[in-house]
Amino acid sequence: MKFDIITIFPKIFDSYLNESIIKRAQEKGLIKIIAHNLRDFTTDKHRKVDDKPYGGGPGMVLQVEPIFKAVQKLKSNPSASSGRRKRRKSRVILFSTRGKKLDSKTARRLSKYDQLVLISGRYEGVDERVAKYIADEEISIGDYVLSGGELPALVLIEAVSRYVRGVLGKYESLEDIKGSFPAYTRPEVFEPKKGKKWRVPKVLLSGHHAEIKKFRKVDKN
Ligand code: SAH
Repeated sequence: MKFDIITIFPKIFDSYLNESIIKRAQEKGLIKIIAHNLRDFTTDKHRKVDDKPYGGGPGMVLQVEPIFKAVQKLKSNPSASSGRRKRRKSRVILFSTRGKKLDSKTARRLSKYDQLVLISGRYEGVDERVAKYIADEEISIGDYVLSGGELPALVLIEAVSRYVRGVLGKYESLEDIKGSFPAYTRPEVFEPKKGKKWRVPKVLLSGHHAEIKKFRKVDKN
């Protein structure tokens, strides 16, 4: 599965994507992630990607043309893995505060595509024609405003990758939110200060698998 990110800050992705599970998944060839600089898809010598909003108001808006060119170029790439020129099943996603809220159901659905093209906005946002004519869907990662779509892209990549077969190893579990439970590890008793004891629930030390299962279902906090 391939993730192509379109951004004006490609370097943001370097460190996060080169650690831990995501790093290993790329090394294994299960996922491939490339951050493309939007400015590489401009044609003028200033590599301009933004302009003032029509109708007035503060700030700048990312222009439709470089994004159109970037998506056209990235989407038309034939599948590299098969020698044939088969078309990838791909989906173009625009990060937007007005998008559909990302949840585990959406992440699982998106994990079925061969390619996701992720458009990260900046400044006051993106020319609305990108949402209207280029993107297949708009996604928000929550009801707050961030400065750009780069963190949303990282969040989506991680949430989606966990559903790609083989990405999670034996040390990580693919749990959905409903199946998650509170975990404890050593020591059995922790003393933050003298006379105060924070204990691990006894049932977890009992070895009674049925009881433990019950506990994990009931105690959500
Ligand atoms: N003025 C815009 C906000 C722009 S924020 C508005 O009112 O919607 C700049 C960019 O950051 C957006 O284009 C979007 O790509 C990204 N962004 C900010 N908050 C986000 C969120 N909660 N979810 C997804 N993308 C977000």
